[in-house]
Amino acid sequence: MPNDPRSHPHAPPMTAETPRPNKLTRLTCATCGRSFILEQSPAAPFCSERCRMIDLGRWLEEDIGLPFEGDPGDAPVDYRESDSED
Ligand SMILES: [Zn+2]
Repeated sequence: MPNDPRSHPHAPPMTAETPRPNKLTRLTCATCGRSFILEQSPAAPFCSERCRMIDLGRWLEEDIGLPFEGDPGDAPVDYRESDSED
């Protein structure tokens, strides 16, 4: 009596009819605007690594390019002292 593993009584049926829940999330890439499958993207939440880098670059640019509106003490001051009017 061979112990055939293929005839396992408790093995799940190996048919193609097994319903597989298609839980795929469709997203729109914020960089290029294309729609893609989140689960299939190598660089979620973007459609591709390239788009992710582009977006990251944008972010950094914006961050650096912010106009300086912080400490007024560091900003160039435009005032005249009546003292130095020559
Ligand atoms: Zn994209």
